[in-house]
Amino acid sequence: MRILITGGAGFIGSAYVRRLLTGAEPDLRVDAVTVLDAYTYAGTEGALDAVRADPRLRIVRGDVRDAALVDTCVAGHDVVVHFAAESHVDRSIAGAADFVTTNVVGTQNLLDAAHRHGVRRYVQVSTDEVYGSIDTGTWTEQAPLAPSSPYSASKAASDLLALAQHRTHGLDVVVTRGANTYGPYQYPEKIVPLFVTNLLDGHDVPLYGDGGNVRDWLHVDDHCHGIALAQTRGRAGGIYHLGGGTALTNRELTGRLLAACDAGWNRVRPVADRKGHDRRYALDCTTTHRELGWSPTVDLDKGLAATVEWYRENRAWWAPLKQPR
Ligand code: NAD
Repeated sequence: MRILITGGAGFIGSAYVRRLLTGAEPDLRVDAVTVLDAYTYAGTEGALDAVRADPRLRIVRGDVRDAALVDTCVAGHDVVVHFAAESHVDRSIAGAADFVTTNVVGTQNLLDAAHRHGVRRYVQVSTDEVYGSIDTGTWTEQAPLAPSSPYSASKAASDLLALAQHRTHGLDVVVTRGANTYGPYQYPEKIVPLFVTNLLDGHDVPLYGDGGNVRDWLHVDDHCHGIALAQTRGRAGGIYHLGGGTALTNRELTGRLLAACDAGWNRVRPVADRKGHDRRYALDCTTTHRELGWSPTVDLDKGLAATVEWYRENRAWWAPLKQPR
């Protein structure tokens, strides 16, 4: 099988590539993996170092907004797994233009090329954030999309374009909607790596608002395994929720990270809340469990401890990313 992975130099995409090429997904027999990545600030060389020498891996530095390049890249692949995105909510609030062009236009370029070249399966990697905020209960796959930020609105748009490509052109599309993800090689702007690297550097950590926002935490290995199962077993046109199963307020998460870094609450600096900050996310994963046989397996405390340890040991990867550019 020949797989094109967009955004394969980023956090989750690179974990997917590493898993494919190291046999962590035994159901996926891989003949060739092409990574298409623009290496924005979020794409790093180090994320693929472990598999760089694998002869099955080819890396194309390029932009999904470049329709001609996308067309050339998609040709000859059986499967496209689309991770590439502008992914940070705060950046989308500061300026949404790149989110629209990359997440929406870039996705349509891939969908068109996938249709033209007869790709057998297209996986749209998306997020629980497309549903907006839910005070109680969980979202099913039929819940209305009500995104709050330009980031989540652009992801909702790209999901709808992918599903429309299935209905209109018969492209075999599956959509995954994953929860907040943590693990190695996450750019130190998202809460877990930002807090851990700040604490390891002796700095304070900024906690938004009252810290009561609830997120459902998912380890990157579980997230990738869910995507792999959606790729191999998913139903064409299907939407698959990948929830972490452990909901925490940001304050609770902060407490765990402080403990893991041997730091106290005096290191926490309350900051004004994010605009449009969703209060709570919660996914109903019944369909995913029934159809794909997937459930998360990584215990949050163990996963967080291993992640903190990884950041302790891999300062050479993240320290340059914290320098002002
Ligand atoms: P990331 O920001 O770490 O990586 C994004 C990658 O896409 C980077 O390598 C970047 O260089 C590349 N990229 C950005 N713009 C590009 C463009 N125009 N052309 C080509 N490449 C481009 O993101 P991530 O956290 O790994 O997220 C990957 C996907 O998973 C995204 O689609 C995101 O919406 C989704 N997702 C993320 C989470 C999470 O918690 N991180 C949760 C659910 C879903």
